[in-house]
Amino acid sequence: MHHFFIPPEWIDKDSISISGEQVHQIREVLRLKSGDGIVVLDNTGMEYQVELRDITQEKVIGKVIKQGLCRNEPETKITLYQALLKGDKFEWVLQKCTEVGVTRFVPIVCERCVASIPSESRFERWKKIIVEAAEQSKRGIIPDLGTIINMKQVCEEVNGFSIMPWEQENCVGIKAQLNNIGTVQHVNIFIGSEGGFSTDEVEYARSKGIVPVSLGNRILRAETAGLVTAAILMYESGEIN
Ligand code: SAH
Repeated sequence: MHHFFIPPEWIDKDSISISGEQVHQIREVLRLKSGDGIVVLDNTGMEYQVELRDITQEKVIGKVIKQGLCRNEPETKITLYQALLKGDKFEWVLQKCTEVGVTRFVPIVCERCVASIPSESRFERWKKIIVEAAEQSKRGIIPDLGTIINMKQVCEEVNGFSIMPWEQENCVGIKAQLNNIGTVQHVNIFIGSEGGFSTDEVEYARSKGIVPVSLGNRILRAETAGLVTAAILMYESGEIN
């Protein structure tokens, strides 16, 4: 069944009213008809099973058949601090990591970043990609996209269980580090850009309690590393079993 995030004010007791872009999606793209079912979400973690009742060019009206808490949100909350990447690679990271279960994305600027700062319209596009990926993967809450921040600054501000996959780390593996995770519910992951993190950045992060870890002997591309780390965390915390 198709999932749609809608503003909470479009839900009035057992009746929903959808307008805007999603009408086109329902009517023209998915060609849904009166009597078909959809799931709507209000981004609070609630989900509503809806039967479509009236579909016009401007509005889709539906009746709530059932409502309850969406059970698909992970208990382990991951924030991915991902360095800006060239081309459309950052978008790929947002899409895939939303599917895997990341809760929050924060784009970071580090020393070896070559990608330019995204324009406002690109940033808006990133948000849209996250919403679409959240709908497709049946998430209950749309992952947040934080504002772009400098690597050094974020090291000052971050707290809690934080790991930084670093391709030159040869003592601490991610498996060993995750043995210390205990009942931690929030994990921060730091991933560098195509050129990796500088030694300075790694040492500075380490001094702030962020632990460099290895992801094994093969070097992953910058857009792959966050996805792999998030998937490992989801598995380790019992979200994938
Ligand atoms: N240009 C570097 C690789 C950078 S990979 C080189 O050629 O050596 C980009 C990012 O992915 C790194 O900053 C790191 O965060 C992560 N990464 C990739 N492979 C990794 C590995 N085997 N272990 C830990 N981190 C890795």
